[in-house]
Amino acid sequence: MAILRFRALQEAHNRKPLEIKDPARRSELFGSNVFNEEAMRQYLTREAFENVMQANQVGAKIGRDIADHISTGMKEWAISKGATHYTHWFQPLTGTTAEKHDAFFETIGEGRSIEKFGGNQLVQQEPDASSFPHGGLRNTFEARGYTAWDPTSPAFIYGTTLCIPSVFVSYTGDALDFKTPLLRALQAVDRAATKVARYFDRNVKKVQATLGWEQEYFLIDSALADSRPDITLAGRTLLGHTPAKGQQLDDHYFGSIPTRVLAFMKDLELECTKLGVPVKTRHNEVAPNQFELAPIFEEANLAVDHNSLLMDLMHKVAERHNFVVLLHEKPFAGINGSGKHNNWSLSTDTGVNLLGPGTTPMKNLRFLTFFINTIKAVHDHEELLRATIASASNDNRLGANEAPPAIMSAFIGSQLTEVLDELEKVTDGKLSPQEKTELKLNVVGKIPEILLDNTDRNRTSSFAFTGNKFEFRAVGSLANCAQPMTVINTIVANQLFEFKKEVDHLIKNEKMKKDDAIFNVLRDYIKQSRNIRFEGDGYGEAWEQEAMKRGLSNHKNTPRALKIKSQEKTFDLFEKLGVMNRVELRARYEIELDEYSMRIQIESRILGDIARNHIIPTAIRYQNVLIKNVRGLKEIYGDNFEKHSKEQMQIIEDISSHIERINSDVTQMIEARKRANVMESKEDRAFAYCDQVRPYLATIRYHCDKLELLVDDEIWPLTKYRELLFTI
Ligand code: ADP
Ligand code: MG
Repeated sequence: MAILRFRALQEAHNRKPLEIKDPARRSELFGSNVFNEEAMRQYLTREAFENVMQANQVGAKIGRDIADHISTGMKEWAISKGATHYTHWFQPLTGTTAEKHDAFFETIGEGRSIEKFGGNQLVQQEPDASSFPHGGLRNTFEARGYTAWDPTSPAFIYGTTLCIPSVFVSYTGDALDFKTPLLRALQAVDRAATKVARYFDRNVKKVQATLGWEQEYFLIDSALADSRPDITLAGRTLLGHTPAKGQQLDDHYFGSIPTRVLAFMKDLELECTKLGVPVKTRHNEVAPNQFELAPIFEEANLAVDHNSLLMDLMHKVAERHNFVVLLHEKPFAGINGSGKHNNWSLSTDTGVNLLGPGTTPMKNLRFLTFFINTIKAVHDHEELLRATIASASNDNRLGANEAPPAIMSAFIGSQLTEVLDELEKVTDGKLSPQEKTELKLNVVGKIPEILLDNTDRNRTSSFAFTGNKFEFRAVGSLANCAQPMTVINTIVANQLFEFKKEVDHLIKNEKMKKDDAIFNVLRDYIKQSRNIRFEGDGYGEAWEQEAMKRGLSNHKNTPRALKIKSQEKTFDLFEKLGVMNRVELRARYEIELDEYSMRIQIESRILGDIARNHIIPTAIRYQNVLIKNVRGLKEIYGDNFEKHSKEQMQIIEDISSHIERINSDVTQMIEARKRANVMESKEDRAFAYCDQVRPYLATIRYHCDKLELLVDDEIWPLTKYRELLFTI
C-alpha cells in the first residue's frame, strides 16, 4: 500500500480516546473566563460598572476617564486568572477572527517594569489593516484601521490572553469587519420593532434580535486528514469515490456517539462553558462522521461572537484529540454537507418573544404582525437573502440533493396557512363590529400557543417558521453568522418602519381604529407576499419549475447570487437604515468576488497537482503491471493469448482513456485560469472562474474517481473515502 496512506491508517487505528473528567456542576464553571456582571461587580468601581451596563443596555458612550477605571479592573481580573497578554478580538472580512497580542508587561525605566493596561488600550487599538481584505476602502482611506471595544459583548480570557471583542473600522469610520454593520442593523431593528411593539404594549422600550445557531461539522482523524493534500489545503476532498456504504442506512444519525468523539465533545463543551457559550445539545448528524452542536439562543451580537469563538475553539480542542474539524459545507461528495441553521426571533425588554403566539387575541395579533412582516420582508428581499449565504464553498451544497435549494422560500405550516387565508378575506376599510369579533375569536384567537406543525415541520424549506422563531437553513457551516443576521435584521427593520407608516396613515387619514388599520395592512401584505410561501417539497424539481413561474430567483452560484449586492436598490436600502454606506457595500461586493475567484483558483491548482503528480503516475504504474501481465500471457499462450488477456487489455485501454482526459482537462483548466487571471474586472474574473474553470473540477474528478475503482488498492496514494469516514 502507498506508504503515506498506510502509515496514516495505522496511526488512526491505534488512537485511544482522551479521558475528560466531567466537572461536578457545569453551572459553576459557566462564564468563569468571562468578564461578566459578576466579575465586573467585583473588579470595577460602582461608577465604572454602571457605565458599562449603560453602554451595554442603551448604547451609552464610555468616557476616557471611565475607560481608565474599567481597564484597570479588567487587567486585575485578567491577571488573577493567569492572563499575560491582551488583544482586541475582531472579525475581519476574511471570515475568521483576528487578534494581535500585546503583553501587559511594560518597562518603566531604571530596570523596573509593571503590568499596564490603560483606558486607551482598552478603547482603541491600531492593527495594520493593509493585510486584511478591504476592497476599495484601501485606496480611499489608506491602509489604516482601528479596532475599538464593543462593550455589548463581554471580554473573555482565551488561553492566557485577555480578548476584547471589538469592531474594526477605517479611520474615517467605514466598517472593515462583520461586526460593525451587524451592530448597526441590530440598532435599526430595535428602533423599528420597538415602535411597532408599542401598538400592543406601551411599556416596551427595547427590542433585541435573538439568534440560536446550530453548527454542523465533520471530524476526521488528523493523520488521515494530513494524508490528503486537498483536505489540508482546501478543507474538503476534491476527489475520491463514494464508498460502497455511505449514509443510505441512516445508521449514523441514530447511532451512539463514538467514544473518541464523545471525549472531544466533552472537552469542547467544557471550554465553551468557561467562555460563557451556553452549549446545550450535541448529536450525530446524518452523514458518517458528521456531528452537530447547538447552544441556547442569545442576543444576536453575542451569539455571533460566540459562534466565531466556537469555530476557533473547535480547531484547538480537536488538535488535542488528534482530530481535524472540517467546517466546509461539502467536504465529501455524495454524502450530506454541513449547514449552520440560524434560528432568529425578536424579543422585548418586557420579556416577550414577538414571534411567539400568545394566549389572547391581542397577543396573537401582535404575533401575526411580526410574523407577517417578516414574511413580507423575506418576500421583497429574497434575492438579497440568497446573496448573504453565497460562497464558493456553500455553492457545493446549495441545490445538492440533501440541502436547501438555492431558492428562498418560507414554510409556515398548515395551521398558520389557514389563519393567513382567513385574514386575507378581511374587508377593505373599516371592519364591522361583527367581523371584528369573528376575527378575534375565531381566527386570531384560535392560534394555539404551541403550534402542532412544529413537530412535523418541513425540513426542505430554506426559511421555516418553527413555532416561535424563524429558522434560516441555507446558511453555510463555515459562514460568519453576522452576514445573514445583518441582512435579516435590516430587511425586517425596513419592513416594520414601512408597516408603522402605513398603519399610522390609516389611523390618521382614514380615521380607522388601530386594530382595523393593522388588519387592513396585514391583509395586503399577505396577498403581496404569497409567492414566497411554499409548503411542499423544496428539494423537488417541481418546485424549481413552480418557483420560476412565481418569479423567484434561483441563482445556483456565487457570482450570480452576489449581483444584487451591487445594485442601486440594495445601496438605498442599507443606506436608508444606516447599516452600510455605498463605499462599504461596494468594497464588500469586491471582496466577495475576489474571495470567490481565489477559492476556485486554489482548488483548481490543488486538483491539477494531485491529478498530475499522484493520480496519473499511479495509474501508469498499474497499467505497466497489466502490460507485463499481458506479455506474460502471450509467452504462455502464444497466438491464443488474446482470449486470455481480453479483460486486461480492456482495463489498459480504459486507463489510457481516463489518463488522456485528465491530462488534457488539466491543460485546458490551466489555460482557462490564465485567461481569467488577466481580467481587469473582478466581476468578469469571478464569472470566468465560475463558468470556465470550475467545470473542470468536476470532469477531472470524474476520471480520477473512475481510476480509483480500476487501480490496485495497494498502490492507490490517497486515503479513500471509506477510510476517512469510517475510521474513528
Ligand atoms: P431543533 O429541533 O431545531 O433543535 P430547538 O427548539 O431545540 O429546535 O431550537 C433550535 C435552536 O433554536 C436552539 O439553538 C435554540 O436555542 C434556538 N431558539 C429557540 N428559541 C429561540 C428564539 N426565540 N430566538 C432564537 N433562537 C431560538
Ligand atoms: Mg433546527
